[in-house]
Amino acid sequence: MLKDTVTLFGNISLTKKTAAAITEMGFEEPSPIQNQTIPLVLAGNDVLGQAQTGTGKTAAFGIPIMERITELKQIQALVLTPTRELAIQVSEELGKIGKFKRIKTLPIYGGQAIDRQIRTLKSGVQVVVGTPGRLLDHIRRNTIKLDNVKMLILDEADEMLDMGFVDDLESILQHVPAERQTLLFSATMPTEIMVLANKYMKDRVTVTISKEQLTVPLTDQIYYETRDKLDGLCRVLDSETVGRVIIFCRTKKGVDDLVASLSARGYISDALHGDLSQAQRDRVMKKFRDGKLDILIATDVAARGLDIDDITHVINYDIPQDPESYVHRIGRTGRAGKKGVAITFIQPREYRQLKLIEKEVKTRILRRQLPSPADILERQTEVIKNQLTQTIARGSFDVYSGIVADLAADYDPIDLAAAALKLFQEGYKEQAVIEKAQFGNTGAEPGMVRLFINAGRAQRIQPQDIVRTIAEEADIEGSIIGVINIYDKFTFVEVPESVAERVLSVMNKNTIKGYRINIEPAKGR
Ligand code: ADP
Ligand code: MG
Repeated sequence: MLKDTVTLFGNISLTKKTAAAITEMGFEEPSPIQNQTIPLVLAGNDVLGQAQTGTGKTAAFGIPIMERITELKQIQALVLTPTRELAIQVSEELGKIGKFKRIKTLPIYGGQAIDRQIRTLKSGVQVVVGTPGRLLDHIRRNTIKLDNVKMLILDEADEMLDMGFVDDLESILQHVPAERQTLLFSATMPTEIMVLANKYMKDRVTVTISKEQLTVPLTDQIYYETRDKLDGLCRVLDSETVGRVIIFCRTKKGVDDLVASLSARGYISDALHGDLSQAQRDRVMKKFRDGKLDILIATDVAARGLDIDDITHVINYDIPQDPESYVHRIGRTGRAGKKGVAITFIQPREYRQLKLIEKEVKTRILRRQLPSPADILERQTEVIKNQLTQTIARGSFDVYSGIVADLAADYDPIDLAAAALKLFQEGYKEQAVIEKAQFGNTGAEPGMVRLFINAGRAQRIQPQDIVRTIAEEADIEGSIIGVINIYDKFTFVEVPESVAERVLSVMNKNTIKGYRINIEPAKGR
């Protein structure tokens, strides 16, 4: 009798519907944390599970949730996650696991229209995955009923504590029945987690996946030592076949600055950090997931726990502050049997910190030389040759053949092709900039744009400061910068129209002589 209704997932017996769902998700066998926690949870224990990021903690609680709850349209399981992105991601995964049992899972988070959430809640869901703030909102409005919650899960609990959600958790728990099963999952186990567990969990069982398994074996770990990290990063991006990349910076400002510096050099990237509105974060994540954005630049907090497939490179633009954070970051790549690369940039004085991480994590981070200009050229040559042969293979370029045939009468075919390549490589970048440059009349010389900077003699700014800073930041020749007029509290500077956009984007909120400035096109008469 029993044999008909259950299917094995490794050594764990599951009902057919759940087993079919996880087979469809491509899981062949349980991960270590799943192997150890699922049977305990199915048996009704409170479980505290610790395992590094990317080890399958979501399904470790998601599978037993789907096994233990019924089709009754009441909220029977409540999962708390620290961020909106995680709420969405966890909810999606639970939705897949509960698919054949027709269990409805709803993510609840701030920033989404509350009316819509209320309507869905009314229609009846069995599992809610929410961020603390928005959940409290619903509790206060009396639009969520938690009396039937039998399982409460605190996911990414360390993160939740880092983000200061302790009081919110406390308030939420007052509205969840005391008679319940409580699960807590975390990538790290600081003492605060123990305090939390002691307070809210009954006779709990703790499962720890040991630190020896901390590193991701499929990830190549290398480091570059350089004083100019930006230059180093660009060389890496130019010389390697990079797919989807996450670059980590220590601070939000670091993230924004790097997005701007990369954009000035023609690389398209986008930022993910706590200062962005939630709609902005959603948009960035969607672009990244959909493959419309290759380079995501993030802070640790914003990216932790996020599960994105096919990350080819994790780049620590700033060295992680502790070994745990290193493991979290590089856990983003080398997933599901695919090989990934983890690159760390250090400045000479950070060498000791790197060695400390290496020791704590029990891993080897190998030193490499930065790609040389010759390496980059070689790589670009490869790319161009590839693109050309593919274009020839695809055919249908008759329009252009005519142009070449005309010119071939007077020019050498090799020169023609090479000139076309140059135009293709360098030409359209500049044109794109010119197209965007709509500054109207700024009172500048023809071909130039006059820019206004809100700093001047009072800030002891001199013409050479302006030239040097703009040239360095925007990566242009100082000699192309035009007339500079410095007044007491402000300055006018003229730059060629073709670089004005770039100068504006890298200089705004940047500093000149340590003074933070605003810069904008001047208003001409
Ligand atoms: P964590 O919460 O520990 O950081 P996740 O639950 O986000 O990890 O899981 C990481 C990835 O591994 C997800 O894409 C998930 O679907 C996948 N995964 C989880 N369990 C398994 C498994 N048993 N087999 C294969 N892939 C799995
Ligand atoms: Mg997780």
